[in-house]
Amino acid sequence: MATLIDISKGTLVAGRQPATIRVPEEEPGVGCNFDSYLLVPDTSLDERIAAAKAPLGNSVVILGHHYQRDEVVKFADFRGDSLRLCQQAASTDSKYIVFCGVHFMAESADVLRRGHQQVILPDLNAGCSMADMADIGQVETCWEELESVGELKVVPVTYMNSTAAIKGFTGEHGGSVCTSSNAAAVMRWAFTRGERVLFLPDEHLGRNTAYRMGIALDRMIVWDPYRELGGNTPESIRNAQVILWKGYCSVHQRFLPEHVDRVRREHPGIRVAAHPECRWEVAQKADEVGSTEQILKMVQASAPGTNWAIGTEIHLVNRLAKELTDRTIVSLDPNVCVCTTMFRISPQHLLWTLENLVEGRVVNRIAVEDETRHWALAALERMLSLK
Ligand code: SF4
Repeated sequence: MATLIDISKGTLVAGRQPATIRVPEEEPGVGCNFDSYLLVPDTSLDERIAAAKAPLGNSVVILGHHYQRDEVVKFADFRGDSLRLCQQAASTDSKYIVFCGVHFMAESADVLRRGHQQVILPDLNAGCSMADMADIGQVETCWEELESVGELKVVPVTYMNSTAAIKGFTGEHGGSVCTSSNAAAVMRWAFTRGERVLFLPDEHLGRNTAYRMGIALDRMIVWDPYRELGGNTPESIRNAQVILWKGYCSVHQRFLPEHVDRVRREHPGIRVAAHPECRWEVAQKADEVGSTEQILKMVQASAPGTNWAIGTEIHLVNRLAKELTDRTIVSLDPNVCVCTTMFRISPQHLLWTLENLVEGRVVNRIAVEDETRHWALAALERMLSLK
């Protein structure tokens, strides 16, 4: 579905409806125009962010995802994964939720927020390459094509890292959201409702999860949205238990099995922990596979002197290495790139957001339109009811 941009309106409305993006008006006063913030010297940023945050008090809560850069995350009231952050924000009385993460996270916060709350994403360009790989129009076409193959009893399951539109589609079609921690539990639930799972949008999380549940690789197919029937035959679709959407995280897909071999050569005895968004071949070679939170807990609970190579976003790995100096903690690939879209949330964007709030202006609000919100909430609640 095409997204229309109307720069004359106030809020980014996400979902099946055309979106509107707020462009702040040129008004006198502090910080209306973001461009002027590019000139704020780095040395004064901390002081100004703290000064803007103070008068806002409890009216604002700042969320910092684990992968967020240090200069921003240090101002977060809560740090965590996207679901936990959404829940923590909704548990506060704060009117404004400033999400220092990426677009789908702000959408999820808007789905789970309380009635009086508003969600802000400091830079609207902070998207997610994985979430963007499942366009709602493509998923609707996929569903129609699956229906054309016959009575398949497919249950959609979507990873938290998907747009509100995809979560809404999932809820409307009887499916559930999952996280990287509970993907197996959600998939098990899905198999009580149907014979097949359509797993969106991360091919690797879907494959790693299904394989660990005992589903054979030859019962999984990949759905390429740019090919007819996803590049499959009716027969292969009927044989499949899991239909994996052809999407991936541009950060985690960079880790290769050769990196595991190399780090083991360079650090004999090292333990390798990989995120399940990594390729199946990497997960097979790793000692541990777990979500960001699971990796954090595992490494924190390990004995001093333990050596770890971690296959996830570099900011989290570097922070762990700084915090746990009695352990050797390295990235599985020292040349891994940061999550470049999350990196777009700069201290300048945070400052601009806060100083506008001080002036009574809400910039970059993310609002999911009502119908999408209803069904996305249904998909999220299904997952939460399984806990
Ligand atoms: S790390 Fe990957 S999945 Fe997470 S926000 Fe960045 S691109 Fe998206």
